[in-house]
Amino acid sequence: MSARADHAVAIPTLHHYIGGEAVTPADGAFGDVYNPATGEVAARVPMADAATTVSAIEAASSAFHAWANLPPLRRARVMFRFRDLLEKNAEQIARLISAEHGKLHDDALGEVTRGLEVVEFACGIPQLMKGEFTENVGTRIDSWSLRQPVGVCAGITPFNFPAMVPMWMFPVAIACGNTFVLKPSEKTPSAALFVADLLQQAGLPPGVFNVVNGGREAVDVLLTDHRVGAVSFVGSTPVAEHIYSTASAHGKRVQALGGAKNHMVVMPDADMDLASTALMGAAYGSAGERCMAISAAVAVGDAGDRLMAKLEPMVRDLKVGPSTDESAEMGPLVTGEHLGRVSAYVDQGVTEGAELVVDGRDIAVPDHEGGFFLGGCLFDHVRPEMRIYREEIFGPVLVVLRVDDLEHALALVNAHEFGNGTAIFTGDGRAARRYTHGVEAGMVGINVPIPVPMAFHSFGGWKRSLFGALHVHGPDGVRFYTRLKTVTSRWPDQGPAEAEFTMPTMK
Ligand code: NAD
Repeated sequence: MSARADHAVAIPTLHHYIGGEAVTPADGAFGDVYNPATGEVAARVPMADAATTVSAIEAASSAFHAWANLPPLRRARVMFRFRDLLEKNAEQIARLISAEHGKLHDDALGEVTRGLEVVEFACGIPQLMKGEFTENVGTRIDSWSLRQPVGVCAGITPFNFPAMVPMWMFPVAIACGNTFVLKPSEKTPSAALFVADLLQQAGLPPGVFNVVNGGREAVDVLLTDHRVGAVSFVGSTPVAEHIYSTASAHGKRVQALGGAKNHMVVMPDADMDLASTALMGAAYGSAGERCMAISAAVAVGDAGDRLMAKLEPMVRDLKVGPSTDESAEMGPLVTGEHLGRVSAYVDQGVTEGAELVVDGRDIAVPDHEGGFFLGGCLFDHVRPEMRIYREEIFGPVLVVLRVDDLEHALALVNAHEFGNGTAIFTGDGRAARRYTHGVEAGMVGINVPIPVPMAFHSFGGWKRSLFGALHVHGPDGVRFYTRLKTVTSRWPDQGPAEAEFTMPTMK
């Protein structure tokens, strides 16, 4: 047997999860899932074709009526059991995430916790779905509003949060009485399959939650099939825009969250120790592969030199290693292709004339020579017209810009095409208030670098960071996954004497 064939036998093949069954296609297309710390292929993932995707939609569609008609309290009980199973299996889910994404174990555990919190929110669904009632809107006429599930909902998710981002969506959707087809990232598919198994153990009926692996072919079916009522997407902006326009054109409600360039404004009166350590975690945590990562620092007035003096040595000392190394502060990038893309941005920044203060391009991680590692990179004196500032890099690259005052900082941030999250570090309440009021972004932190809203609030950006009207999870999640119905009721003693042709008004 050739070495190549030997290798092929050793690599596990993943599956889809449809109608409560693991479905492993015998043939068709497969993608490679990497171990980013070694650069080796760790698994093969089936890439669903249109027929497989349709079968998942059919399973979800068949399961819908029975699930939707179950009292919310009983749906909530499934969520309570699922929540406990998530907690018991958090370590294992985190290991699956790290193995395919590369992020550190504790970071992956944090991701599981943030997903679990959405499940806890969804456990309150009997309360969340309570309607509104007005007695006597007219004489002996009552009116009430209620929320009903949409039907089959689809979720399409990115590689960087393989557990948390799907859990921004399906716990709320399912608790509201919908059924769900998840299309996770083909780069990090295993966490979603594991979670599907936990849902089954929690007592979720077959077909309520389905996973189809794959890429564009599967997604295109989810965007156009008439049985899908709602599409939630999280990923890059060009794909978000495609999802939004295609699914909307097919009559679906859509929330499509896109890319980001999150700014942290550092005022001259900020505590520089606090600001610089916050920046380290926010820029380099998870190798910068977070939609809420701070990738641009805006130093105001004379803050620049003092900030750089603290940042530079910390970026140089950043410990890069595999997720299994407990002393590591940052793991590898997700694939070799992505590493190439991020490194090319660093080259580009140098060509554009920005000052590369720390260059992480030639890092070597002992015993992991094939891994997709890049050290922390830090640019100073970046100008707004440079591509390293205008575009999302999605890697461990922090760019620092300098402006004269807060108004210039605000104008700079507001001129950017993205408006996901942002932060201001200051000791001045007036500056903080001016910034939070005026900034065009969906999530703002005051001395908090990554202001990800808790599960009972909603998460989302502005401008080209979100297409659609509603944010994910929290109250907006319930609104997105339910349709509002308003009933007006009269029990007359006798019918009207004659037909009324005027617009009805209450008497
Ligand atoms: P991506 O856009 O490449 O992929 C996201 C999903 O879309 C995947 O499931 C992928 O299979 C699918 N997809 C890719 N190309 C497609 C196409 N042409 N047609 C249909 N489907 C397609 O994103 P990614 O690289 O997996 O994730 C990183 C991106 O996600 C970054 O831009 C990041 O900012 C963004 N992100 C945003 C948020 C947020 O909340 N706004 C959160 C996490 C990640």
